[in-house]
Amino acid sequence: MSWYGNQHVVVTGGGSGIGAAIAEDLSATGATVTIMGRGEERLKSKAEKISANYEVCDVTDREQVVAAFSAAIEKSGPVTILVNNAGVAEAMPFGKMSDEFWDRLIAVNLDGVRNCTRQVVDEMLEAGSGRIVNVASTAALKGYSYISAYCAAKHAVVGLTRSLALEFAGRGVTVNAVCPGYTNTDIVDNALEKIMSATGRSRDEAMAEIVKANPQGRLVEPDEVASTVRWLCDENSMSITGQAIAIAGGEVM
Ligand code: NAD
Repeated sequence: MSWYGNQHVVVTGGGSGIGAAIAEDLSATGATVTIMGRGEERLKSKAEKISANYEVCDVTDREQVVAAFSAAIEKSGPVTILVNNAGVAEAMPFGKMSDEFWDRLIAVNLDGVRNCTRQVVDEMLEAGSGRIVNVASTAALKGYSYISAYCAAKHAVVGLTRSLALEFAGRGVTVNAVCPGYTNTDIVDNALEKIMSATGRSRDEAMAEIVKANPQGRLVEPDEVASTVRWLCDENSMSITGQAIAIAGGEVM
């Protein structure tokens, strides 16, 4: 059987945006894919479209995470590829940020990665094979004003990625991060709405503000992130570990 034919992939936040593109792309390789997220309806309809399974869980809730991974493993066997993609991006000036806002962004973007990774590493290490890919952001590699909680969480995800890559080196498990710039998903749509309502700018003006961060002057497409994730998951990518790969048209180098 091919490499992917033997893989059970879990993609968190796989019901929409980048996660859905990754799940679809990996499902097309012949891998068994389970998508996880909070909204059952959306997960169910996405899973049907891409021939995947789904489990409902909030990645910040450890009990739900344990239950979702147990159910996925029961149905489809040990998880051999984990893509930690679930995340929330929200902007707030640091001085106006409530404790609740800070805690929520750290919980989803950082603790969620740890919670899900914890469910799969023992079996990956025992099997001597596994791929973990964390969807971070260019906000993991550089600062941006007004998104300090998001930046802090995503920088921490890269720290976690690098540490685990070393801890698991030589045991068949690689751990990498991908760092997209602004990507064409609901997250950017929401950012556009916020810029428009805060500044009175038109949609085109708000979009121009967003894409100017990318030297190619455009949004990244979810499929471009998906193919980078697939490359990191390939059989021949064993030597690539501990990397944080920017997918951002040259914004970070
Ligand atoms: P999106 O909103 O479509 O996807 C995020 C997914 O995570 C959604 O399916 C959402 O339901 C899920 N999610 C959020 N909180 C969750 C929780 N507590 N438990 C389980 N699932 C939860 O947006 P996207 O752009 O596809 O984002 C995917 C990832 O890519 C995120 O980690 C985001 O930070 C990262 N990212 C996005 C961009 C961008 O510009 N769109 C850029 C860099 C990085």
